[in-house]
Amino acid sequence: MAWIASHTIVKPMMIVMQPGAPEEAVEAVRERLAATGVHVVVMPGELTTAIGAIGDPEGVIELGLEGMAGVDRVVPISRPYKLASSELSDHASSFEIGGRTIGGGETFCLIAGPCTVESSAQTLSVAAAVRAGGASMLRGGAFKPRTSPFAFKGLGTAALEILVQAREETGLPIVTELLDASHAEAIEAIADVVQIGARNMQNYALLEVAGRLGKPVLLKRGLSSSLDELLMAADYVLKEGTEEVILCERGIRTFETATRFTLDLGAIPWLKLHTHLPVVVDPSHAAGDRALVEPMSRAAAAVGADGLIVEVHDDPEHARCDGPQSLYSSHFAAFASDVAAHAALLGKRLA
Ligand code: PEP
Ligand code: MN
Repeated sequence: MAWIASHTIVKPMMIVMQPGAPEEAVEAVRERLAATGVHVVVMPGELTTAIGAIGDPEGVIELGLEGMAGVDRVVPISRPYKLASSELSDHASSFEIGGRTIGGGETFCLIAGPCTVESSAQTLSVAAAVRAGGASMLRGGAFKPRTSPFAFKGLGTAALEILVQAREETGLPIVTELLDASHAEAIEAIADVVQIGARNMQNYALLEVAGRLGKPVLLKRGLSSSLDELLMAADYVLKEGTEEVILCERGIRTFETATRFTLDLGAIPWLKLHTHLPVVVDPSHAAGDRALVEPMSRAAAAVGADGLIVEVHDDPEHARCDGPQSLYSSHFAAFASDVAAHAALLGKRLA
């Protein structure tokens, strides 16, 4: 299935086919809908096929599709988010990134690496350590969103070259942040997964740019964003044509200041009910303190996350960004096997 770019999304209708409805019946409904100009998404499920029709709900109702062969019912999608909604697709989406499966309930993805690419020696050393410890992908920031304009903002395109070298040496797919639309081409050229940072979750123009790059997008929850808002942000990316969006809970602002942010663990099972998209947890930014990262990671695995994105450094005391929350690379293998044991309780193995 493919979602066509720049379509106005109003209130989708979903046409649920009867179990075992023949392919010709599905095709007849798809053609009838497409002829009216609405955007059509066909979603084959294990038992039934659902067909999403986006745009002009009244027009879809008037078609009287219930009378067509193989149609069970026509239902409006009632939630404010549409393409991300589990109403649109009731089976967990999964996709492959460089041979690693994310989502779908059978794998647990460990995305690990430095907050920021600081040098080739640092990045290659951390990459080798996380690879050896069982990581599924390498994270590393090249363009960094910083609260103070005077803080280190990353090495930019030089960092992207280092990440490519790290991928060549380890085989790990690269996750890196798209901070600004002007970097899109450079990020597109090297990233395996395009990260949208918490501060940009509501930068709607940037979400559309990310959705057009043809790469999986890891979308972080805004520090003060509700889960409805997160899923509507995901819709911005999905409507541009990509089907591969990974959601990330990374802690939210609350009255509590003992931890850097408050990890919203309830978000994970809630998201599992309300969206088909994979969900990962970032315990590092939520905690702000490496001593809390492992217990929070175990909890994330236990409540059903599809993976983690975690910061690791070879020399955290001298890190240029987020050292206090970064795991020691020498500890990563032990960390990974501990978390993997918790993911295994839910039947998941490391991707
Ligand atoms: C990061 O992943 O390095 C980062 C800046 O995270 P967030 O956008 O969640 O603050
Ligand atoms: Mn960081």
